[in-house]
Amino acid sequence: CETGNSNSYKFFNQKMESELSSRIQMESLLRGALKRDELSLHYQPFVCTQSKNVVGAEVLIRWHNPTLGQVSPTEFIEIAEHSGQIIELGYFVLRSALKQLAYWRELYNQDFYLAINMSPIQLKDSYLVDKIVNLLELYKIPGHLLEIELTENALIHDTVCAQDVLSKLNQHGIRLSLDDFGTGYSSLSYLQHYPFNSVKIDRSFIRNLDTSEQSRQLVSTIIAMANNLQLSLVAEGVENQFQADFVATQGANIWQGYYLGKPVDADDFAQQYLITSIT
Ligand code: C2E
Ligand code: CA
Ligand code: CA
Ligand code: CA
Repeated sequence: CETGNSNSYKFFNQKMESELSSRIQMESLLRGALKRDELSLHYQPFVCTQSKNVVGAEVLIRWHNPTLGQVSPTEFIEIAEHSGQIIELGYFVLRSALKQLAYWRELYNQDFYLAINMSPIQLKDSYLVDKIVNLLELYKIPGHLLEIELTENALIHDTVCAQDVLSKLNQHGIRLSLDDFGTGYSSLSYLQHYPFNSVKIDRSFIRNLDTSEQSRQLVSTIIAMANNLQLSLVAEGVENQFQADFVATQGANIWQGYYLGKPVDADDFAQQYLITSIT
């Protein structure tokens, strides 16, 4: 029994050690990723449940490294947050996405918006608002065509600072969206204290709509609440017709999910959703 214990301890230790070393490896590879041009952006359509038009897109970062292959942002964003590199990565995402939007606006002449994910660390950057406003000016993009997605954990710490930054962004017309709604502890109080324009119901609620009456009740309650508060409601992770119909009937404004379209690179996005709509 004792040997068993020490063996499993040793095993556990080795596992931790190898996780740590792969984390260190990932962090060091991520440091050079921007320079080596390994980072890119994908775009996933937002579809209006009324008009059925593509009205915008969420911007999702991608990292392909020759050694590691394709790495999920859920893995490397967290590492970049710890190392502080998220400031640089976040700026890369903002700059590249707004540049892309300017290009699309010129070509397709559409009022189409982009939603960009923002890490809580970026909110602490005292130049954040200036950086964003300068980019909007540079690319001649009106503020309302940029939406910033924040999760609840972005707001848990240091409320005053976040409130100041968010209201400044809001004054420039930039829209704010509360991401992964319903998964945190105090979603409702955030809606009261911050100037959000829209709410994204987390995928985990949408996933069970087909099978769980409780999920259906929860989702329709959240949608009704958003409607009452005059917040735009995005249903994310919509994967089939049933889910799409259900949320639309309940009053969701925007569909997002594989059923409507997976995240794709800029060229594919334009081909699938922009080129066809100019004629
Ligand atoms: P998120 O903000 O909740 O983004 C939605 C995630 O759900 C994306 O995963 C998207 O590909 C995926 N998704 C969309 N529709 C469906 C669906 O119908 N079914 C399923 N199963 N999944 C769907 P992705 O691209 O892997 O991103 C994961 C997370 O990484 C994001 O979650 C976000 O928290 C973070 N992230 C991605 N890009 C950025 C970025 O530029 N900056 C920051 N700070 N975080 C980012
Ligand atoms: Ca998001
Ligand atoms: Ca989300
Ligand atoms: Ca999420």
